[in-house]
Amino acid sequence: MKAVSNGSMKCAICKAGIGETFLKKMIGTIIKDAKGKRYPVCPACQQKHQNDKKEMLKAL
Ligand SMILES: [Zn+2]
Repeated sequence: MKAVSNGSMKCAICKAGIGETFLKKMIGTIIKDAKGKRYPVCPACQQKHQNDKKEMLKAL
């Protein structure tokens, strides 16, 4: 997956912009639903849902 820069991605849960570290590594995670659609999730939401992808999908 090609990295998207300048925080153009938004968290699928809280809609906050997701940035990148200075190493161009995306902050947060990507979760996939049953259909394989990908959703970016910010670190705050990741933590709020104990990094549980099923819980994060429920929160979408
Ligand atoms: Zn979020």
